[in-house]
Amino acid sequence: MKILVCNVGSTSLKYRLFDLSSGEETLSEGKMERVGTQAGTWMHKDAGMKETKQTLPIPDYATGIRLMQEALLASALESMEALDCVAFKVVHAKGVTGVQLLDEAVLSAMAAFNTVAPSHNPPYIAAIRQFQQALPHTPMIGSFETGFHATMPPKAYLYSVPIALHKEHAIRRYGFHGASHEYVATRTAELMGRSDFKLISCHLGGSGSLCAIVNGKSLDTNLGFSLQCGIMHNNRCGDIDPYIPIYLMKDFGYTLAQIETMLNKESGLLGMSGVSNDLRDVEAAAETGNEDAKNAVDSYCYQIQKQIGSYAAAMGGVDAISFAGGIGENSALVRRMALEGLSFMGVSIDLAKNETAKPDCELTGEESRARVFVIATNEEIVVARKAKAYLLGRR
Ligand code: ADP
Repeated sequence: MKILVCNVGSTSLKYRLFDLSSGEETLSEGKMERVGTQAGTWMHKDAGMKETKQTLPIPDYATGIRLMQEALLASALESMEALDCVAFKVVHAKGVTGVQLLDEAVLSAMAAFNTVAPSHNPPYIAAIRQFQQALPHTPMIGSFETGFHATMPPKAYLYSVPIALHKEHAIRRYGFHGASHEYVATRTAELMGRSDFKLISCHLGGSGSLCAIVNGKSLDTNLGFSLQCGIMHNNRCGDIDPYIPIYLMKDFGYTLAQIETMLNKESGLLGMSGVSNDLRDVEAAAETGNEDAKNAVDSYCYQIQKQIGSYAAAMGGVDAISFAGGIGENSALVRRMALEGLSFMGVSIDLAKNETAKPDCELTGEESRARVFVIATNEEIVVARKAKAYLLGRR
């Protein structure tokens, strides 16, 4: 069974072609960046995993999809009809979650939450429509990022606002990064050799979230109705007092558009440090004595640490903590600072192992009751497996 998994960003298109007929083989993969410009970049690995890189105009997704199609047909795929489906890691839709055939009704449900996921839903909808035009006979299947969190109890997903907002406008915590948290839970269970345990999954990338997972199921997570809350993100604010925007608008004349841009694009690591939205730059600036950069790194790690403590309380203990995502996999500093001082609750790491950690590895300290892992997350395989299960279920 051949499944093409596509991950659409506002200016990027990543793809991976799997053959899931018997095992789980990657046949080809690639990544386009700066889609929408004359100076796009394209990395493609063919069927022999030989890599080519080029800079070329990729003015729109339609061009990107055509280039990808031609490259896949050149070595990895005998014809587009050989493709069983295109699978997407879609983000958010009103009243829809789990694994879905991306038909008009589901695309409308996604559009109904464009305001809630402005950086994710509009480009996804546009790209899916262009895929539908390019491959009219191939099923398009979406795995919603919210799906993994469907097991949260009402006490975790309801907000303390009038209940009519939940009942009439679907306002509640949904949670995101479901494919990554699910992968981390499955992989940690393999490394633990058991499935009945309390895990805190820390997906730390440009956008980050933590998830409290009991026996493989999401109990709570710190992204919410939107992706604007929880810990700070690369340029989004994370949790702030909801009265800050009201104060700025009422007393200082900020407009709604200004507030939205500020919280969505100019906050988080970028806004706090004034340096960059890339943690590597912020860490480097902090090291050279930049006070704002140092505060941004301190705050980022402190927010993760507090969330770990609160999830340990929510679960009545913790057996494992796993780090994933660009930051979770690569920043020894963040892992060390986030876990510092947690030996009172049985969590400590081996500092030497932490410095040289490469996923998938274990960092557990000698005295630690909980085990600590670094996991190379693999959202694409989760999406491909779900699409396969969906297709088999339909037959
Ligand atoms: P996205 O959420 O966009 O998919 P990733 O999971 O790829 O992001 O993570 C991107 C982030 O990972 C970047 O912002 C960068 O700060 C961080 N990162 C990558 N490598 C390192 C590193 N060696 N040290 C610190 N941060 C890193």
